[in-house]
Amino acid sequence: MISFYPGPSALWKEMPTWMEEACDCGILSVNHRSAEFAAMLRNTVEQLRQRLEVPEEYGIFFTSSATETWEIILQSLPIKSSAHYFNGAFGQKWFEYGKLLSPRAEAFPFGLSETPTVHFTSSDLVCITHTETSNGTYLPDTFVRQLREASNGQLIAVDATSSMGGISLPWRHADIWFASVQKCLGLPAGMCVVVFSPAAAARAFTLNKDKHYNAFAAAVEQANNWQTTHTPNVLGIFLVGKAMNSLGNINKVHARLDQRKKDWYDFLIHKGWSLLCTNENLQAPTVMAIGGESKWIERVKSETKKAGFMLGNGYGTWKENSFRIANFPAVQNSDHQRLMELLSHL
Ligand SMILES: *Cc1c(COP(=O)(O)O)cnc(C)c1O
Repeated sequence: MISFYPGPSALWKEMPTWMEEACDCGILSVNHRSAEFAAMLRNTVEQLRQRLEVPEEYGIFFTSSATETWEIILQSLPIKSSAHYFNGAFGQKWFEYGKLLSPRAEAFPFGLSETPTVHFTSSDLVCITHTETSNGTYLPDTFVRQLREASNGQLIAVDATSSMGGISLPWRHADIWFASVQKCLGLPAGMCVVVFSPAAAARAFTLNKDKHYNAFAAAVEQANNWQTTHTPNVLGIFLVGKAMNSLGNINKVHARLDQRKKDWYDFLIHKGWSLLCTNENLQAPTVMAIGGESKWIERVKSETKKAGFMLGNGYGTWKENSFRIANFPAVQNSDHQRLMELLSHL
């Protein structure tokens, strides 16, 4: 079965070799305060920095999931309140956790095919979702830049779960970028990569909200010494290093995904199929959500499954009337061509 599910997604083909290497080299049994562990962590951070072109002044630490990271950010970084822009299920869930932690959390929802505009807000933390995995939309760089230009000491936090590792990100336009590893990064679930700016670290230390073991400041402090707050997902950290090492430069990866996206769009137009989002500037390179009647969707999913291809179900509001195709780097061009060939007969 070849999976086109947008998370948990298809793993890198090399995964069995990497896992065997992790077992054989002994890293899974070393103490996480040891020099061996610190060297492995450091290598992974350096690989991430190099391949994804993370600016040198930004730091990196690891958590267990994007969901956990929503909460860590909301517990550690707002001075007064957080403001949330969203047009789909993941961004909305982040807002809902924000509201649970502070009744002052603000929501700026926008339509599926609507370009978001920057709102005036006195909130000091702005939360956005770079690729909304539930509906296949993403935020253009211009919007992220406008947010940055309008910000007045505000921190900007970005859920980049379906973007990191596939899209070249405008790092300096935001302060925190994070991604669970089981989507665009093509790794087994259970970990999240968090990239943070000096301003985010400074805010965390100033507020020093250390009431939680998962405080942002504690994670930064440990990361500065190639350490972690707790015994981490050592295998996960090791695998990110391996995946980055074989990924190649992010600009090349992004160009490859853009070309595949273009091929898919030509194909969809030819078939007369349409994406949920009709605004071309907002259609994500990494996740496509194709809309249609629920009966037809069911048929497409079952026919493809019979032929050995797993499509993604719709999500949230769009559960019944869409299916999703991940365009993540771990899946090869030839597999996309085979899926297209099969779909062309439906
Ligand atoms: C999948 C996803 C999440 C949740 O990831 P977990 O690893 O389950 O916490 C959060 N945000 C986005 C954009 C996602 O696609």
